[in-house]
Amino acid sequence: MVVVATDERQAGIVHRVASRMVELHPDLESRVQQYADALTVPARGSSFQVLPAVPKRLEGLDFTLAIVDEAGRVDQEVYEVVALATGKQAASVVLAIGTPGPELDQTVLGRLRAHAIDHPDDPSLVWREHSAAGFEDHPVDCDHCWELANPALGDFLAEDGLAAVLPPKMREREQFPAGAVVPAHRPARGGMATARILGRLRRRHPLHPRRGRGRRCL
Ligand SMILES: [Zn+2]
Repeated sequence: MVVVATDERQAGIVHRVASRMVELHPDLESRVQQYADALTVPARGSSFQVLPAVPKRLEGLDFTLAIVDEAGRVDQEVYEVVALATGKQAASVVLAIGTPGPELDQTVLGRLRAHAIDHPDDPSLVWREHSAAGFEDHPVDCDHCWELANPALGDFLAEDGLAAVLPPKMREREQFPAGAVVPAHRPARGGMATARILGRLRRRHPLHPRRGRGRRCL
C-alpha cells in the first residue's frame, strides 16, 4: 500500500501517524516491522509507504492500494504515474481524495469529476461526492448545505472552525460546487481511484442566531 502525500513533510507526518497507530495496537505491533520509511508485515510480504508527490519518486510502484491525497492540488503527472501502475495487478486500486482548489477543471480532482458526470456508467470510475452542488443560491451559512457538504461535521470537523472561515474572512469559491465530492475511478484494468472533493463549507454561523426556518433553505 502506498500513500502519496503532497510533499516530504506531509509524507513524514502521515508515516508518523501510521507508525503511532501500530505502536498503540498490541496486535499490530506484534506483526508489523517499523522502518524509517516504511511499515512491513514480513509474513504477508506487504508494506505501507508514504511518498511525496514527485513523479520520479513514484515510478515503478507495484501496489494493491494507492491513496493520492490532495488530488485537488497534486500535479496531473503524479496521478498519471500512480494510475498507470494499476496495470501491474489485476485488482489494484487508486483512491484519490481531495478538496477543490482554484481552477478545479485543471486539477486531477476536476478531471475525474468531469469524467464521472459525462460517463456515469463507466465501470472504471466510481465517484463519491459530498457537496451542496445545485444549491448555489442558498446562503453560505445554510444549515442544510453544511450538512450535505460535510459528512465529518460534528465528528472530526468542528462547526466553530467552519464558522470562523465564513466570508468575508475568506473568499467564496463560487466556481466550485458547494460541498464535498467523492469520485472513485476504476481504470480499465480493474484498478479504482476514488477522489473526494470538499467544496464550499456551508453552515449556519453559531454567532448569528437562526432567523427562522427559512434560513435552512429547505
Ligand atoms: Zn442549503
